[in-house]
Amino acid sequence: MTASPSTHPGPTLLADIATLETPSQAPHTLRLPPAMVATMAAQWRASFPGGHQHEQGGTIVADRHGALSIQNIGGQRGVLHSNHHLFLPDIKLRDAAHYRVVGTFHTHPYDKANGGATGVPQSGADMGVLILMTPFLLSIVQSGSQLFAFVKTRLTPSYVDKWELHKNTQEEVWMRMKAGQSFEVGSRKMAEGHALRFGFAYYRGSGSVLTRS
Ligand SMILES: [Zn+2]
Repeated sequence: MTASPSTHPGPTLLADIATLETPSQAPHTLRLPPAMVATMAAQWRASFPGGHQHEQGGTIVADRHGALSIQNIGGQRGVLHSNHHLFLPDIKLRDAAHYRVVGTFHTHPYDKANGGATGVPQSGADMGVLILMTPFLLSIVQSGSQLFAFVKTRLTPSYVDKWELHKNTQEEVWMRMKAGQSFEVGSRKMAEGHALRFGFAYYRGSGSVLTRS
């Protein structure tokens, strides 16, 4: 008897997340391989060059067995947007015969001049990238020790106006802050609501385990 995709031991495989009809069908936990966790932690540590926030990241790939790892660290040259160095994924793989692109990883650093928050999940623009980039099934963000993941399902739309979405989500976070929530809590509430709206399975965690909320 073979284990069903979401109950096998060991790290999450591509097959566990590749063909989800709805978020509730998604695995209860995402379990990341140790090498991937180490890569993400190193990218977080590299996110404050000279004390200034600078997003880092890479492209999440799967090998022929569906095992996940991260390549193309550094991505394309990032853009400066609203005082924030934004990470841009590079999806051109050096070994496309053995790996396929399945997602994107980046950090969310905030330096002292920008409030120093941690625990800040995907922005509207990040959700837009996940929706618009056809090969991406998965988006992971590390912010401090906290990890956030969105996984696409068949309920996820294939198009959104990325910058319109980004503007609207920023406005939502500002409204939440006006109502007394911290930036990071408002950002997480915003992300949870948009995960529902876009049919993403939404995970939070740290280390190698993220749990679906
Ligand atoms: Zn981001």
